[in-house]
Amino acid sequence: MPTPPSHPLPYGRQHISDADVAAVVETLRSDFLTQGPKVAEFEAAFATYVGAKHAVAVTNGTAALHLCALALDVQPGQRVITTPITFAASANCVRYCGGEVHFADIDPATGLLDLKAVRKLLEAHPKGHFTGLIPVDFAGLAVNLEEARALADEFGLWIIEDACHAPGGFFLDSQGQERRCGSGQLAELAIFSFHPVKHIATGEGGMVTTNDDALARRLRRLRTHGIEREATGLLRQDEGGWYMEMQELGYNYRISDINCALGASQLARADEGLARRRQLAAQYDAAFTDMPGISVLAPGQPGHAYHLYVIQVENRRGLYEFLRTKNVLAQVHYVPVHRMPYYENLGWKFGDFPYAEAYYSRCLSLPLYPTLIDEEQAYVVACVQEFLAHNPA
Ligand SMILES: *Cc1c(COP(=O)(O)O)cnc(C)c1O
Repeated sequence: MPTPPSHPLPYGRQHISDADVAAVVETLRSDFLTQGPKVAEFEAAFATYVGAKHAVAVTNGTAALHLCALALDVQPGQRVITTPITFAASANCVRYCGGEVHFADIDPATGLLDLKAVRKLLEAHPKGHFTGLIPVDFAGLAVNLEEARALADEFGLWIIEDACHAPGGFFLDSQGQERRCGSGQLAELAIFSFHPVKHIATGEGGMVTTNDDALARRLRRLRTHGIEREATGLLRQDEGGWYMEMQELGYNYRISDINCALGASQLARADEGLARRRQLAAQYDAAFTDMPGISVLAPGQPGHAYHLYVIQVENRRGLYEFLRTKNVLAQVHYVPVHRMPYYENLGWKFGDFPYAEAYYSRCLSLPLYPTLIDEEQAYVVACVQEFLAHNPA
């Protein structure tokens, strides 16, 4: 047994460098704590990183989703499809606008929304019944947006890609080309989160990326109360430089320069962190390949960004408890959204999405973050092995 670490091993955590600290301190001593140069700097660098034309930074990933739903004019009664295996926010953004959330089951091999199940759902209703699709790059594995786009075009849907788990991730399209998560080529909008468990930390923070100029402008306006400085036809000729207009009902979803200084500094070494995540995942894959009683979710996929490393075991509860006694704080991602009491009150129930429910009953996310060292990972593997040896499936 490798030596136990002196501290608990969470499933994910941030990595703050001296350069990150210096960047934040520099902003604290500058003229702007918010609405200064760091927001635009972080946005420009992030847009370049994912290969999108526009990036709009906001207070968190949930606000990013809300703004997307607003910018796409989600109306009460409109129906939007998402996956049951995601963080609830992916679905909630539709509810904020009064829309109806619908789900399709996952593909058990990948944990991603099953586009065949989505097609079945779409074909069971007249065209126009559904208005949008919110696929999630779950655990860091990119959704095949080429296929999703074709389906969306056939049925007249927009797409919001929830890419919170996958900055730097990609899928290979039918031509073998790498298509980056959030590149804006295939989905109208994509969103990211900078919560500390995600790849890039800003404390709280989020981003929307898009290639659509009009949507980007709308997002910027909605982010700051619906206000624009640029006047529309309403401008009184005698107004001065103070003039601004609130053109629609917006929010204050602005992120601070303090957060963005941290984000820009983190982003500068995002590829380093991503490479380490992939290396750790490959090491887990190798350790678990021949271990009886355990299966790995979607091993060896090109472009996987590995926000999470998910295993599946029969006695998940037992393994979860055992690992806690060993100071390994594995986690479950996720309790299916349709099983949340809020969504059950809207009519969803156990049995609606059997693959999602089966996945949930067996899944566990093991520690995975760039600063996890090999010895700690070996200890996690040894703990899993010890449990399985004493608890054969
Ligand atoms: C983290 C996360 C969100 C929400 O992001 P916050 O910044 O925490 O609001 C939304 N969707 C997914 C898939 C996430 O993992």
